[in-house]
Amino acid sequence: MFKKLLIANRGEIACRVIRTARRLGIKTVAVYSAADSRSLAVALADEAYEIGPAPAHDSYLNAQAILTAARRSGADAIHPGYGFLSENTAFAAACAKASRIYVGPPAKAIHTMGDKAAAKALAEKAGVPVVPGYRGERQHAAIFATEAAHIGYPLLVKAVAGGGGRGARVVERPNELGAALESACREATAAFGDGRLMLEKYLRAPRHVEVQVFGDRFGNLVHLYARDCSAQRRYQKVIEEAPAPGLPPALLRQLYDAALKVARAVKYQNAGTVEFIVERGKFYFIEMNTRLQVEHAVTEMITGLDLVEWQLRVAAGEKLPLKQPGIRARGHAMEARLYAEDPGRDFLPSIGRLTRFHFPLLDTDLRIETGLRQGDEVTEFYDPMLAKIVASGSDRRTARERLRAALRQTRVLGVISNRDFLLRLLAQPAFRRGAVDTALIGRNLGQLAPHDPAPDIALAAAVLSRVVTRRPKPGADRFSPWRLRDGWQIGDARTTDFVFDDRGTKRRVCLRFTPDGLSLEFGRRRLPALAWVLDGDDLAVELDGRRAEASVAWDEHGAQIALEDGTWRLGLADESARRAAAATVAGRVVAPMPGKIAAVHVTKGARVTRGQILLVLEAMKMEHAITAPSDGVVTDIRYAAGDPVAEGAELLVLGGGKEAR
Ligand code: ADP
Ligand code: ADP
Ligand code: MG
Repeated sequence: MFKKLLIANRGEIACRVIRTARRLGIKTVAVYSAADSRSLAVALADEAYEIGPAPAHDSYLNAQAILTAARRSGADAIHPGYGFLSENTAFAAACAKASRIYVGPPAKAIHTMGDKAAAKALAEKAGVPVVPGYRGERQHAAIFATEAAHIGYPLLVKAVAGGGGRGARVVERPNELGAALESACREATAAFGDGRLMLEKYLRAPRHVEVQVFGDRFGNLVHLYARDCSAQRRYQKVIEEAPAPGLPPALLRQLYDAALKVARAVKYQNAGTVEFIVERGKFYFIEMNTRLQVEHAVTEMITGLDLVEWQLRVAAGEKLPLKQPGIRARGHAMEARLYAEDPGRDFLPSIGRLTRFHFPLLDTDLRIETGLRQGDEVTEFYDPMLAKIVASGSDRRTARERLRAALRQTRVLGVISNRDFLLRLLAQPAFRRGAVDTALIGRNLGQLAPHDPAPDIALAAAVLSRVVTRRPKPGADRFSPWRLRDGWQIGDARTTDFVFDDRGTKRRVCLRFTPDGLSLEFGRRRLPALAWVLDGDDLAVELDGRRAEASVAWDEHGAQIALEDGTWRLGLADESARRAAAATVAGRVVAPMPGKIAAVHVTKGARVTRGQILLVLEAMKMEHAITAPSDGVVTDIRYAAGDPVAEGAELLVLGGGKEAR
């Protein structure tokens, strides 16, 4: 076994790899960008080296800087994690050239499978079914149009070098093909430096089922069962589980067999995942990921194995620890990806400081994988995943309930997270039954995205957090009358009014201090209230006899309140008045987040209609369409493709429309 391992990654996966390495007595080396100098991964590692500025391109994708850190630290092996350089043939080869062991498959396997077209050709040759499509080298629009007519609509445009859902576009009709090719090519070029595209028959509601495989250099090859990752939004996995619910055992055996055929055909070594889509009892190979997968933890939970340990052993030249009959699966495991994104605003990534970041206590049925700590900053530079919450149980229902309970106890403040969305998804009837397909989330978005008004107890928490005292400092006189801050005063009862803006609705709460204690008035209803501060600055609130634990964070715009059942953002009414005023100034088109302009779709003087795409903003690895807030004429364009923009920057000016003055 090697002595020192460098992890060429960041965040939760860097922490995850460090933990196993440490257990095996291997020293660890972290590398970090300027934005991550105080990260958890850096704190956990034995040594750490800065590799460049915040943008991934200058740091985590800078192979030379990483190899320099390997040399300086004397690390004899490099684990790429996932994302970044994990599927980069040149990097794997460069590690070997620098005499460092690359913890992953041979460069040749990465190369073949990194090309989705080549991978499909190989699978087909190995006798594994693939989705019908066009995978040719010729990339002219005219060729694509002809091929598309052969395949038939709907179809899927995919990046040959694709990953993480980037570069994929569904095309329903021939007249949409041109625009889809253009934007997919642009996204793929930006993400992978390779704009080649392919076409595929689009299945409307398949399941995504994948098989974990493992090989060693002695030609041993095994599978570690299947995972279902059908709960997806825009081709990105949201909830993953193992085993895949409700699949007939005969079909599963066929999938294991097909996965091993594909792996054998590329002489695979180390951890890999063979992905399939399954529809009406038929399955089709879609791609192989030549790395550890984000959702590997669900496989670990049902097999009781440590996949990172296997990766390290195999890379160090050992045999696979187990043969196929020795690999058993028991129970069920489910993982939810907690993201910094706003389901209420089309899942726009959210950035900011994590003022509250709390998870329940771990046990054998619960794992939390995160690279963040309370107080850390979520920046626009990297993936918005905050944590993975992984739960297991004897059966699917138990695992799902365990995961739900864990999410209810999870608190995220300072950024907007998808926690409530995940809770709703876990409770969704079809999901509960295990009837998941890749279109389930899209079909039910109305019920899954947040819409509930804040309950009284959330308003109460926001108000009470302003008046309840912190816990007394040790040594302070707890009973001094000067410490009391319950607002009681001699004479008449005192009241304070709070007017909140709850997604456009005014909510008025009156806090009343009386000699008997606090009460809150919601219109005509007056309810007795009580609150005190708990450990970690959370608040216990009692309203009319109902108790809840709340996390509350105030900033200059209002309060964010997290309870077990939900998270709400309440603006202060004068703030909402200000925002409303700003929004009615016709033609303001601003960047919703910092990023880079990927494309400008209009020219000065163009007449546009409400909802039309004006520009495309690239931020946090995705493209976001910026649409016209009203009909009008473009009177000024402030940025060009390639320009960086700050949050709130005015991108272009619209005038002359209906709402213009
Ligand atoms: P997987 O296929 O491993 O289940 P996805 O396909 O959803 O995961 O993830 C695709 C890509 O997203 C990964 O290859 C990686 O590029 C990126 N990614 C996701 N989460 C992270 C993260 N926390 N850190 C770095 N990259 C990530
Ligand atoms: P990536 O590299 O981005 O993970 P994949 O080829 O694995 O790309 O596809 C991502 C997701 O897109 C799949 O999990 C599946 O949900 C969906 N998908 C892929 N191919 C098809 C297809 N032909 N029809 C319908 N959905 C598909
Ligand atoms: Mg995939």
